[in-house]
Formats: sequence, structure tokens, C-alpha cells
Amino acid sequence: MSPASIIAIDGPAASGKSTLAQRLAQRLGYLLVDTGAMYRAVTLAVLRRGIPVEDEAAVSELAQRVQIDLRPPTVADGRSYDVLLDGEDVTWAIRTPEVDANVSQVSAYPGVREAMTVRQREIGKRGQVVMVGRDIGTVVLPEAELKIYLDASVEERARRRYEERRERGEEVTYEAVLQAMRERDRFDSTRQHAPLLAAEDAVVLDSTGLSVEEVVERAMALVVREERRAAHSHEGDD
Ligand code: C5P
Repeated sequence: MSPASIIAIDGPAASGKSTLAQRLAQRLGYLLVDTGAMYRAVTLAVLRRGIPVEDEAAVSELAQRVQIDLRPPTVADGRSYDVLLDGEDVTWAIRTPEVDANVSQVSAYPGVREAMTVRQREIGKRGQVVMVGRDIGTVVLPEAELKIYLDASVEERARRRYEERRERGEEVTYEAVLQAMRERDRFDSTRQHAPLLAAEDAVVLDSTGLSVEEVVERAMALVVREERRAAHSHEGDD
């Protein structure tokens, strides 16, 4: 039996989808592709060049031009992958509040989405991949064998993000994080192109009140179920 070759995980910010994707990829020996990191890298490139984020044409043009690579981690500092922007390691530089505050606007531009979607499809079609984002099951890889939409209440997601930030030594308040999270949710869910949405055939998991282990176990149960289903349908082929 071979497990689902493409696993798509979507959901709002801080729902735990990146952690889940990382664990599944590890267990299955699959490649992990965090598409949020790609949109963040484009946003960082825009900010560094001093391009106004409102300048759709310039931002889209830059998105076509920059080289973004995700590869297995080469530094043991808590990262699950390296993010390279034109060859430079920007793994942590894409996690600043400034990138957070601008990434939704940058990723709403059709030109930016197209540039990223093309690259994501190329990687996804090779199979043995866990791809995580907002529109993987709906737009990027609708053919994925298993689609998981991971959700959690906005308060819980804000609390997780707040704790992450405090651990990194940042001075933030819970209220500010909650406010920023609500804003990003609203932007991601109401944008015209590829809004955040569960695919019709996605399994919705709510991680509110669940530990990471519990979420991973539920997702692994879905992987096993998909394996069985695929094995059955192959039997039918004989
Ligand atoms: O997952 P993460 O929070 O790092 O994603 C950052 C932002 O990138 C999201 O808020 C969203 O605006 C955008 N994004 C997207 N489509 C994806 C992944 C991320 O629009 N597939």
C-alpha cells in the first residue's frame, strides 16, 4: 500500500497546520512545502527594496523575478526547513511583524499568486509531498488524495501566536496579536482570488483544545483511511 502521494493542508493563521504538516512529512518521509513561507519571502523582497505594497504592478513583477527555494534544514535552530530568497537564508527574517502585517496584501495580487502557484504545482506534481497553505486543496493541487482543513478559534490561535512571540523575546500584548490575527483572517477569507476556504472534499479538523499529538494522530488516521480506500479501489481495477 502506498500512502496518499499528495497531502494538502489548508487553514487560517496559527491553526497548527505548519506543525501538523511537518509531523506528517516526517512520519511519511515526504517533502514539506510551506507555501506561506513563499508568500512571506516575496513580501520580504518587496519591503527590502522599498517597493510600496500598494504598487500592484511592481510587486507582481518582482514576484515573477525573485528566486525562492525551500529545502531541508541545514541549521539546527528550531527551523523545519530553510527558506532561501535569491540564495540568501531568510528563514527567520520572514517571521517579523512587518512581514506579517503586509503579507496578506501582497498575496492577494493575482500576479503574485500566479507566480507562486506555478512553482507550487511543479513541486506538488512530483508527489510524496505535504503542501500547506490557504488554497492548496482548492486551487493549487485539487487532485490531492487527502485534503485537511485545520481550524481553531481565533482566540486560541492568537494565544498560540502570542506565546511563540514571547518565547522569542518579543514585546507584544495578547490584544495586539488578536487584533492582527482578526485582520489577517478577514483579508485572507474575503479576497477575490483564491480566498481561504475549505475544499468541498476536505476533512475539517478543529484543533481548539487539542494537543499537537492529538491533531497528528487524527490526521494519521485519515492517512491510513485514505490508504485503505486507495487499496480497495485498486482491487476493483483487477
Ligand atoms: O501560513 P502563513 O501564516 O505563514 O501565511 C502567510 C500569509 O500568506 C497568509 O496570511 C496568506 O495571506 C498568504 N498565503 C496565501 N496562500 C497560501 C499560503 C499563504 O495567500 N497558500
